[in-house]
Amino acid sequence: MNQQSVRVRFAPSPTGPLHIGGVRTALYNYLFAKKNGGKFILRIEDTDQNRFVQGAEEYIVESFAWCGIEFDEGLTKGGPFSPYKQSERKQIYAEYARKLIENGSAYYAFDTPEELSVLRKQYETKKKTFTYNWRVHNVLNNALAFGKEKTEQIIASGIPYVIRFKMPENRTIVMDDLIRGKVEVNTVVLDDKIIFKSDGIPTYHLANVVDDHLMEISHVIRGEEWLPSLPLHILLYKALGWETPQFAHLPLLLKPDGKGKLSKRDGDKLGFPVFPLQWNNPKTGETTRSYCEDGYFPEAFINMLALLGWNPGDERELFTLDELSRIFSLDRVGKSASRFDPDKARWFNHQYLIRKNNEELTLLFLPVLIEKGVLTDSSFVAKVVGLIKDRAYFVGEFWEQSYFFFKAPDEYDAKAVKKHWKIKSYYHMVELKEILINIDDFSSENTETIIKNWITEKKYGTGAVLNVFRLLIVGGLKGPHLFDIISLLGQQETVWRIEKGLHELGRNE
Ligand code: GLU
Repeated sequence: MNQQSVRVRFAPSPTGPLHIGGVRTALYNYLFAKKNGGKFILRIEDTDQNRFVQGAEEYIVESFAWCGIEFDEGLTKGGPFSPYKQSERKQIYAEYARKLIENGSAYYAFDTPEELSVLRKQYETKKKTFTYNWRVHNVLNNALAFGKEKTEQIIASGIPYVIRFKMPENRTIVMDDLIRGKVEVNTVVLDDKIIFKSDGIPTYHLANVVDDHLMEISHVIRGEEWLPSLPLHILLYKALGWETPQFAHLPLLLKPDGKGKLSKRDGDKLGFPVFPLQWNNPKTGETTRSYCEDGYFPEAFINMLALLGWNPGDERELFTLDELSRIFSLDRVGKSASRFDPDKARWFNHQYLIRKNNEELTLLFLPVLIEKGVLTDSSFVAKVVGLIKDRAYFVGEFWEQSYFFFKAPDEYDAKAVKKHWKIKSYYHMVELKEILINIDDFSSENTETIIKNWITEKKYGTGAVLNVFRLLIVGGLKGPHLFDIISLLGQQETVWRIEKGLHELGRNE
């Protein structure tokens, strides 16, 4: 492959928030460009004004900024093929539509929506489906039926028209897809698609092909849902006398149970996010959850998406965007659809969380502590974070895993008290308190050795003593290694918590 010539694009329609399937498509394009020293372009395909949603374009740009996916050219970047928004390129498409008419690949059609709807109904009553194609196009209201002169008269009289592509009757189109291999379709099953609408705006098909050509796109990497449009696109390239780019259609993302495509609505229904950033629906006022607001790190999100359909060829699972940029290839994108696994997404976040240094995590945790009214120095928080991060998937879980480092228990878990607070417990704790007061080196290892030796010597039973000890320090039977906890709390606080527990739980007689 000529390394200089790789140019790929992500071409979303701003019809709503970007779903993770779209982010994956963009990511694979980005990685492919990086791997091949190419360029990655963001083009907005907004020819269908009826489906335009306020804020969607900004959302797309902000989502990629959050993900760390950068474009080389496009919407916010500009570049040699500006503008990158189809609504600002309207005048370009008309010229190509005219060219297609002139060379007989397309024709004017005047059928009104009402006429077409009547035809559809007539076919339905005969249990057939109406298709605007070679079987019927010579007898409908169009240039093929009327001839050149009459067509020109109609147009001159101001009657609205669309332009349809004249799909050949019986031709096998052979498509070479970089992921699916060879795909063949006979045009007999295809219709004469509208490529230019009566409002003077092209449909997706024409605009997409024209722009991919003019923007010198070398590889079209997009979702499998566009595969049915590929024969038309290939014929459009041919009819315009252009070379086709290479195509790669990415398999679908499926719901976690494998039943059906992962849709925009699944996130709220199935309890996991499907959008990168929070989306406030301007029409309904509803807000949908997202990876960012749910506490995912963008690196974890990207890593998870990269592996949903692509594999590195070995067992490795953790990759930075840079590493992915070096090893990504379309040969390792599977042909079959990938099932989205929300647990695996959480797992990825956990992997990134435990690898982050404690100081960085502390900065993320501090606002929570402030909100909880905890004032403490950040080096202490960093130590706490170091002890608990192994147990959390998200920074948002840190408080639940660590609140006992910041305040002594107000109450003690009733079940644990019932089970473990025996008559002897009180006396064990009184004795333990004396031992703790006399320890000089309050490190985790030293306190553990001294206390375990004492338990063994006295034959008190490790469980019996340590469960109660933990209960008084933490308020329940949870948390990291007990000796790590007390070492961090320090001698004074540890002793005080035992005294408090003795006082509050009292003798159990
Ligand atoms: N505008 C299309 C979309 O919204 C782009 C399809 C393509 O990449 O060709 O997905």
